[in-house]
Amino acid sequence: MKLSFKRGVHPVGNKAISKDAALTDFPTPQEVSIPLSQHIGAPAALAVEVGSAVKAGTLIGKAASFVSANVFSSVSGVVKSIEKKRTAIGSFCDHVVIENDGLYEEETLPSLSELSSESIKNRVREAGIVGMGGATFPTHVKLSPKTPVDVLIINAAECEPYITCDYRLCLEKPREIMEGIGYLMTALGVSNAIVGMEDNKEDAIASLQAVAPENVRVCSLKTKYPQGAEKQLIFALTGRVVPEGALPSDVGAVVDNVHTAFAVYEAVALGKPSYMRAMTISGQACTHPGNFWVRNGVTYQAVAEFAGMLPETMKVISGGPMMGFAQADLLPSTGKGTSSILFLNDDEISDGDKPISACINCASCASHCPMHLMPMFIERAVEEEDALKAKGLHAMSCLECGCCSFVCPASRPLVQSMRRAKKLIREKGV
Ligand code: SF4
Ligand code: SF4
Repeated sequence: MKLSFKRGVHPVGNKAISKDAALTDFPTPQEVSIPLSQHIGAPAALAVEVGSAVKAGTLIGKAASFVSANVFSSVSGVVKSIEKKRTAIGSFCDHVVIENDGLYEEETLPSLSELSSESIKNRVREAGIVGMGGATFPTHVKLSPKTPVDVLIINAAECEPYITCDYRLCLEKPREIMEGIGYLMTALGVSNAIVGMEDNKEDAIASLQAVAPENVRVCSLKTKYPQGAEKQLIFALTGRVVPEGALPSDVGAVVDNVHTAFAVYEAVALGKPSYMRAMTISGQACTHPGNFWVRNGVTYQAVAEFAGMLPETMKVISGGPMMGFAQADLLPSTGKGTSSILFLNDDEISDGDKPISACINCASCASHCPMHLMPMFIERAVEEEDALKAKGLHAMSCLECGCCSFVCPASRPLVQSMRRAKKLIREKGV
């Protein structure tokens, strides 16, 4: 039987648009605009001023607390301005606008004199590494679990439709990824790691298996969404169930994305801080899809021009179509968590644009929810502003994965209702 979790959905993958495009350098524009908040937690504190000369790898934002992350310049040049702008997730933060001199001079972190758990954790923190699957949780925090862990799980599932940058990374950089996994294992003090990847990427699985040491298992998972959600991945690979309100470390596991493992390799072995990443450009409404090394701070406008965004574009999404963020304009900039930018036409979004009608009590949303919730009842609790009922229906466990909205024949905006339920519970303090 294939390793998997219960429930979930099977959206059309659309990976063929970009999967065969090897990673190449994205042409960085003459100006980059780097957000000081590219992570979950406190925004980084500004560490440069207008007129400062910087290199690729110069610290421009210092982590403001333990749950925060350093931010680095992605180009060499001069700081032109500091501007408050909107990010791709809709919040506002300071952006450091840098005039790119086109030389790409680099500043690296000093070599590590020893590879101990503490020195690796410090390096991960120093390098500003965050979860690069899109969650952007600071990695050094995950490397300091409060309970003992015995296994590192590497999330290479890449279950969101369209996105193929992790797939390309596994094909093209397997040795570097394995080295990064080794550093993460040392940091955590664990002797085993499991890499999980969906079975629609067998060549990438083989690429990693060919270089994996004995204590790193590379496993093929059933292709199903959301296979890459932490709790679902842990269950599929270990059979362990993370209880409601608990963390993966409470069942002895830490989960990191495969691109995060690559970033750890770069930081530890090369002294390179986190300021560029692999990113997919895809969708039927652009002429130049593919996979690219993109420096932080490239505006979506510059990405759209390079991608050849077509007039029939109906939706631009940052991230995947299931959990990504639809963009109102092209003003935001790429960051550490920008795994993809999608340009979708009418055919690709038409299902999501059907008119909303009344719930017909078909229970399809409940029977597909990977967290075994009852979204239709939670939606009703939200409409009645009944926080206690929403909490009793375990709304706080919602992953916001979108499976319920995806299957709803009445096109109910269920994910939005789940978000409203969480907000209501927090506001009413129940
Ligand atoms: S209720 Fe939450 S976890 Fe369940 S399918 Fe909907 S979005 Fe996903
Ligand atoms: S899937 Fe939609 S129509 Fe069916 S029960 Fe859920 S909310 Fe109602």
